[in-house]
Parts: sequence; structure tokens; C-alpha cells
Amino acid sequence: MPKYVYDFTEGNKDLKDLLGGKGANLAEMTNIGLPVPPGFTITAEACRHYLGHGGMPDGLEGEIGEHLAALETRMGKRLGQADDPLLVSVRSGAKFSMPGMMETVLNIGLNDDSVLGLAKQSGNDRFAWDSYRRLIQMFGKTVLGIDGELFEDAMDELKGERDDTDLDAADLQRLVETFKGIVRERTGRDFPADPREQMDLAVRAVFDSWNAPRAILYRRQERIPADLGTAVNVVAMVFGNMGPDSGTGVAFTRDPGSGRQGVYGDYLRNAQGEDVVAGIRNTVPLQELETINPEAYRELLDIMATLERHYRDLCDIEFTIERGKLWMLQTRVGKRTAAAAFCIATQLVDEGLIDMDEAVTRVTGDQLAQLMFPRFAATAGNRRLTTGMNASPGAAAGRAVFSSERAVELAGQGEAVILVRRETNPDDLAGMIAANGVLTSRGGKTSHAAVVARGMGKTCVCGAEELEVDPHARRFTAPGGVVVDEGDVISIDGGTGAVYLGEVPVTASPVAEYFEGEPAEDELVRAVDRIMTHADSARRLAVRANADTPEDAARARRYGAQGIGLCRTEHMFLGERRRLVEDLILATMPEERQAALDALEPLQTGDFTGIFTAMRGLPVTIRLIDPPLHEFLPDLTDLAVKVALAGEEADDRDRRLLEAVKRLHEQNPMLGLRGVRLGLTIPGLFAMQVRAIATAARRAEGARAEIMIPLVGAVQELEIVREEAERILAEAGVEAAIGTMIEMPRAALTAGQIAEAAEFFSFGTNDLTQMTWGFSRDDVESAFFGKYLDLGVFGVSPFESIDREGVGRLMRIAVEEGRRTRPDLKLGICGEHGGDPDSVHFCHEIGLDYVSCSPFRIPVARLEAGRAALTCAESDTR
Ligand code: PEP
Ligand code: MG
Repeated sequence: MPKYVYDFTEGNKDLKDLLGGKGANLAEMTNIGLPVPPGFTITAEACRHYLGHGGMPDGLEGEIGEHLAALETRMGKRLGQADDPLLVSVRSGAKFSMPGMMETVLNIGLNDDSVLGLAKQSGNDRFAWDSYRRLIQMFGKTVLGIDGELFEDAMDELKGERDDTDLDAADLQRLVETFKGIVRERTGRDFPADPREQMDLAVRAVFDSWNAPRAILYRRQERIPADLGTAVNVVAMVFGNMGPDSGTGVAFTRDPGSGRQGVYGDYLRNAQGEDVVAGIRNTVPLQELETINPEAYRELLDIMATLERHYRDLCDIEFTIERGKLWMLQTRVGKRTAAAAFCIATQLVDEGLIDMDEAVTRVTGDQLAQLMFPRFAATAGNRRLTTGMNASPGAAAGRAVFSSERAVELAGQGEAVILVRRETNPDDLAGMIAANGVLTSRGGKTSHAAVVARGMGKTCVCGAEELEVDPHARRFTAPGGVVVDEGDVISIDGGTGAVYLGEVPVTASPVAEYFEGEPAEDELVRAVDRIMTHADSARRLAVRANADTPEDAARARRYGAQGIGLCRTEHMFLGERRRLVEDLILATMPEERQAALDALEPLQTGDFTGIFTAMRGLPVTIRLIDPPLHEFLPDLTDLAVKVALAGEEADDRDRRLLEAVKRLHEQNPMLGLRGVRLGLTIPGLFAMQVRAIATAARRAEGARAEIMIPLVGAVQELEIVREEAERILAEAGVEAAIGTMIEMPRAALTAGQIAEAAEFFSFGTNDLTQMTWGFSRDDVESAFFGKYLDLGVFGVSPFESIDREGVGRLMRIAVEEGRRTRPDLKLGICGEHGGDPDSVHFCHEIGLDYVSCSPFRIPVARLEAGRAALTCAESDTR
């Protein structure tokens, strides 16, 4: 039988699968001698069993009993003992942090008898009754499923104009009776007085909360697997609400917004932990603890330094001070903004805690992409309403909305919105996901809004206290009486905390400017530069660009592209050149056709010369024309109407065009006359393109042309095109590799044969995904992908990230069989996946030579290729 319960002394930080993040780190802190209240962890395995079988696994109850007894012996008191009760908290803690998404119940063990014992032992009646009312409130909401507002309303009614802390023991005792009444009325039974029953019910409730709708939504958003389950921590209570010499706080070992070293945190006197995270009362900066309790403050700083050295990373912590004594309630490697991730990684290198290899693995391509977002340009034209805390960077503008539901609704209509709340709670998650940014009037940098927004990479300003937010009236009032109603546009700056009326224009980010060639001046840009340089030296994959204009080619080169992996030629047939394509299609005699091709050729030559020049010395893969020809012709309906309306007067060219358009019309053009099929059907078309490439390659110094044939499914197709292309190249005295895209399942499956006629393969994973799944790439995403994602058919669109099992398997086959035929076969990818972080890792794993992506994604691909080389198992084909 598996072991389901671990004492904190038995676990360690590497057991997160079993003990969850919180449990594993509580164990780790216990073992390195930090002051952690004693307790034990019930494993995520027990949760999985409970959720899967609808009941607790055999033996769990006994194991919990043994660990509880050991805890009681250690503490010298029993759970809920009438004269001196041991109280415990029951806390969720999954492998991946899901802030506030699951449940926690504090003060378990209190009842009508033990509350008196607690009052006597603490010498503080108010504290004891406050603890009891908190238990009934949390237990009622979480375990018994009673609407939390009933308790809050009862408390508000009692408080009137007073603050929480103004309630005295008698008030709180009265509140306990009211709360018990609510429980009786809502559940038909009394609040359970038996401490062990309280604990067992709380454990079940935490297990159940794994499947609460908000937890499910959060997991989907963060791509956390749905079957992990949560561990449960049962911890001896320590109290931050025992009076003015008690309190609770949260802190980071460095600024999670900028990475700067220092003391970052919030402290709340005479309160329990949940009060800080919920942002219910305003906290004071942690530095003030130095005056309140210098000894605890110094100890806390020491512990923070120990944790940083031990974890070799930024840690965040929750702590409680009970009558002057410091207790650690949680730590974990802390979430941070993208900018802080880069700065911290290089700071830790400079401090000798990690090396550059590790620094590269500590940042992600997604974070780099975030840093390339624009920021607000001059804000002079906009009225600044107030400045709150810069909780999560970026710049966002949109219509103010005051509820999660409204945010979802308006965003669904394509509106940019800013979700404005006094404070957010986990029920606001859907609105936060839908909004461009989040603005709150209460709560610090560790409030729910701040933590969740940072995790999502969403712009957030929090604690803008000068704003009076009235969610019922759907408006807020700023200093000076400025009223912002729902629908009015505001802009928030997550970097400075400023809130502006109206829409503020944005400007480029310094990181984007660095990639454009500006020198690395500030700390962040220098950190990016160091990490990129190291990633470049570590990676095995080359990175190329998908670019088909000299401007894009030049940008790609500035961003670090080592060549062009896909130059699509179809854009070169649009605009004024359409008429020449029409002539080509209307041609009935070979001379007419040749005349049209002759007119196109110098234009194509010019296109290629521009690109070769921009990429001088670097390889440029030019793909011969791919899309169905009717894409270059007038729309069938428009043309038919035009001809019909003109009647007898209709232009002869229009009539002929209409016939041609009808002739070329296809039910499913993506699977019709396109790619190599066009080349084989329209005499002279591919030949014209190859000649233009050859002429341009002769003209542009340092040109390195590669010719790529699209949509090949059989080696025979390639052989025919190849023969003609080789002849033209030989006549021109130009050397160019000839290869093919692998974008049809048949091409992947017969790659061994195709490699006979191809010097390189480039995986066209857009088409390969379309054809492997049978998903029309232009239609399905809007039609039913939302549903598929909800149903869990896939966690992310296969058009975004390579479907490793299906499409990926075909790629592996093609790599293996292609290389078997031609060991020096060059392999790349040029579908959209070439710039997707996870797909880049996959391409590294299967042994491709390069990835090719749009110019703006090149830095991300470079970084991820470096990370892949440093973290993945070596490629399995070489
Ligand atoms: C592909 O299919 O992946 C590809 C790069 O070609 P296109 O998107 O132009 O069809
Ligand atoms: Mg394609």
C-alpha cells in the first residue's frame, strides 16, 4: 500500500509530484532548520484516488490518525482540547502553484468549548472569538458550500461604520452565534463541533476544490495537466491576529517586477495570512516591520538570504509573527515578470549562484516575446487620473468594465477592455483572461490581482487607492471628481502604475530596439544581450526567417537570422502584376503564354535580386509558386455580376476571364491545383521562376540560392521539375541546391524516395497539420477549436504548436528515412511552428538543422534553440 501521509521532516523540495509545491517546500524549510510550524502532508496520490474512486483510499484515515497523534504529542496538546486546544490549518498545495484557486480552512479544532480554552490560554478573548468566527465562515463557505456573502453581509451589518478591528470580543461572540445560525439554516444541521470531523471534512473539501470551475479554468489557461490532483497540508496553527505584536506578511527576496535586490513585501499587523493575499485591508511596506519588530525583521532577512542561496533563485514567502515570534508558512521559487526573469538570471550568475548555461534555461521565449511588446509613447496628451502600483508590466488601453462577466462579454465582441475592480478574487479569473489589463484600487503587489496578472503576462496596476470604485454603479471616481463610466476608454501603464483617461499611443520596447541594432544600455537590455549571446553559442539549430521582401529580409538579418528558410513567391504576383497572370491564364497559344511569362520574368528577377542583396552571403530558400491560380484572378461572383450587368456590352476580356475563373474554380482549392501540380500543368511557369532566380543570383554579389518545390507527394513530381530546373541553372552557370517541402503525409511516408531527388527538406507544418488531421486550415479554428480545447481533445491548437504524436511522428519518419537515403540531407521547418517555443524544442530533438519563422519571432527561436540544446536529450537521429 502506498504511503499517503508524510511528516514535514520526511519530505523535501524534489517531491513536488507527491507533496505538491507547498508541502515539498515546507518539508525543505523544516529540514534546513527554518522555523516552520510542525505538520504533515497528505499526498496528491491520495487526492487522485479520492477523485477517481469517489472515496478515500484504504488506510488513509489510519495514517492521518497516526500523524495527527504524533503532532499532538509534539505540541503537547490535542486537536480541539477543551482547555488548551491544538488548532490546525488544512491547506491545498498542488505541484504547480494555482494562487487562490483551491481551498484552505484555518483554525480547525475550535468549538464552543475549546474557544474558551483558547481565550484562557491566549489571555485574549477577542482573538479567540475572532478565530472561531473565521473558522465557521471559511468552513461554511468552503466545506459546506454556503454562499460566502451571507457571512459577509452579517458581519457588515454588525460592523456598521466600524472597521474589522473595532469589533470587540462580545461582538465577535454574537457573530459566531449568527454564523452558526446561518449554517443551521442553510444545511439543516449544526456546525460540526467534533475537531476530527472538521479536519476530515476540510481535507475532502480541499480535494474537491481541485475540480472547482475556477481551478479548471486556471489550469487550462496555464496548461497545467488536469489529472495531477492536489496535496493537502495539515499545519499547526500560528496566529498573526493575537494582537499588535502579531501580524502576517508576504515577501519576495527580490523585486518580482524588476529583479532589483532588496526587501519587497507587504505586512499586515494583527491579521491572518488570507487577509493579505485577498487585499482586504491595506498593508504596510515590509520595511516598516523594522520599526515594529526589529528582531523578527532581521531574522526574516536572514531567512530570505538563506532561501535564495539554497534555492539559487528568487523566492517568495508567506510568514506569520505570533507575539513577536517569526514562523515561515510557505516558500517557493517566485513568479516574476519577464523583465525580472532576465535580470535575475544574470544577477545570479554575477553572484556565482548559477552559470550562464543555467541562466539561459531560467528564461523563456514567451518572456522574451513579452519584452518586445511596445510601451506607452508620450503620455502628455492624456490626463493622468492617478498612479497605483506597477504590478505587472506592459501598456494596455481599453474600455473600463467593472465585472468579470462584462469583461468577457465585451471582449467576446472584439472590444479591448480594462477590468476595474476594488480587488480581484479567484472568481474574476475569466474576466482577467478576457481583459487587456487589470486595474484595482486595493491590495499590494502580492494581492491576487497582481500575482495572477503577472503569471499571465497581463498588464496590471493595483492598489490605486485614490480611485473610488463603485462596481454596482459601474463607474469609478478619480481625484478631482473625474468620473469614468463603464465603456469609457482608459489606459494603464504596468511599468509605472499610471492610469490615464483615454487611449495613450504606444512606442517600441527597448528590447525590440536592441534587436534592431541599438546598443545595450540599461540593465534589462544588457541581460537580454548576455543571455542571447550565450544561447546562440549553445544552440545547434540554426535560425532562418520566412521573408519575401527585401525589407523583411533586412529586418530578419538584424534580428539574427542566418538565412531565409522560406521566401514565398506568390505575393510577387499581386497588385499591378495580376494582369500579367491573367494574360498567362487567358493565353490560348504558346506564344501568348510565353509573352506573359516574358513580361513577368524581369519583375521576378528584380524581386530576387533585392532579397539576395539584403541577405548577401546567407542562404535564401525560394519556393516556387504555391497557391491555386484563381487566387490571382477576380472573384467569381463579382465577375459574374459584372458580366451579367453589362449584358451585350460586356467586355470581351471579362467574358474570357469569367470562363477561366469558372474553369479554375475548385470546391476545395487547398487540396486542388496548387504547388508542384501547377508547375507541371502550366508549361513554362516554374521555368520562368528558375530563370529569374538564376539571373538574380548572377547579378547579386554573394547570392546563395536554394530552390524549393512545394506540395510534393511523390518523387516523380520532383524529378520532373528538377530536371528542367537543373538544365536552366546549368545554362546560366549558377549553382543552387534543389529541395522540397514536406507538407503532405505521403511525402513524409515516402521521404526515403523523395530524398533521392532533394538536397533538402523543409517541413511545411501548416499544410502537414492540415492534411494529417484533415482540418481545413482556413476554417476550423473559428468553427470548432474552442469546443475542442474545452473538451480537451488537445490542450493547444495543433496549428500553433506541433502535434508531436501525429504530425511529429510523420516528421520523425521523414527525418529518419530521408537521412538514410542521403546522409547530408539538410532539414528545416518553415511552417508557423518554426517560431513556437515548444515546437522549436521538438525540432531540436528530432535533429533538424534549422527552424525558420517570421522576423519578429527570430529572437524567440534563437533563445529556445539555445534552451533546447541545454535542456533536451540530444537529438536521436545523429
Ligand atoms: C506550410 O504549409 O507549412 C508552409 C510553410 O507553406 P504555406 O503556409 O505557404 O502553405
Ligand atoms: Mg504549405
